[in-house]
Amino acid sequence: MRGLAGKVAIVTAASSGIGKGIAKVLASEGCVVHISSRDEVKLRKSAEEIMKETGKEVHLSPCDLTKPSDVRKMLSEVKSKSGSVDFLVINFGDPKVAPFMDITEEDWDSAINMFLKSTVIMTRSILPEMAKKGEGRFVFITSLTTKQVLENFAISASLRAAVVSLSKVLSIEYAQKGITFNSISQGYIQTPRLENIAKRNAEKMNISVEQAYDAIRQGIPAKRFGKPEEIGYLVSFLCSSDSAYINGTNIQIDGGLVKFPF
Ligand code: NAD
Repeated sequence: MRGLAGKVAIVTAASSGIGKGIAKVLASEGCVVHISSRDEVKLRKSAEEIMKETGKEVHLSPCDLTKPSDVRKMLSEVKSKSGSVDFLVINFGDPKVAPFMDITEEDWDSAINMFLKSTVIMTRSILPEMAKKGEGRFVFITSLTTKQVLENFAISASLRAAVVSLSKVLSIEYAQKGITFNSISQGYIQTPRLENIAKRNAEKMNISVEQAYDAIRQGIPAKRFGKPEEIGYLVSFLCSSDSAYINGTNIQIDGGLVKFPF
């Protein structure tokens, strides 16, 4: 155990995949976890699954990260239930993947709201309390696209890079207040989203879904996909006092996928 019992954590986009894996690990460490995502039914199912596996109560607040009013409502629900927040783990929904000219201005507005504006709103709301207490943790879940850009990933590459840079600036501004800001850049993680990608590739290439999975897997030095809980273990370490000197970093967790040494 990492000494996280009783700490209040928010994990966004947590009705499935990586967000749910993170919430599960933090709940098993004894955190009071608040999860959010767009769909209340899916969110409730996720909370029930985590409670069943960990025996810990999980709170839920539906919130569409593309809507600033939803983000503010979620924050006020968390504060009225649990008071001040110790850990803010911002995970995001899927950005549109398309050639640059097929991404509309509306797509950009919605993505800017999800990646940048929601991060700013949540951080601004939670920071003052943390600064007063002299401790707190921010962890932003981004993507391998912050390390290696990909064709058709203009939204993901540009807006996640903005989140990483924001985190770096904040890490400097708040370094003396006991608050750390770090980002995680994950590679391929076994989630419903990866399943959709495999299905899409299978259709495009006229191969089976298992063959499509295999084609991705072969490019990963570890020859396997990551598990959502493996992102959770890193998050729980970054939230612990053992990681107090890790600040302003963007950590890869990708089975060795991205080859650049720095
Ligand atoms: P997933 O589809 O399993 O889960 C996505 C979660 O985001 C769900 O809970 C969904 O309800 C929620 N969500 C979607 N849009 C939302 C919105 N507008 N507001 C609030 N919640 C919203 O996907 P995942 O694989 O867990 O991916 C999580 C994040 O990690 C995404 O940003 C994804 O692009 C990124 N990512 C995933 C992988 C991977 O291999 N799985 C790799 C790199 C980056």
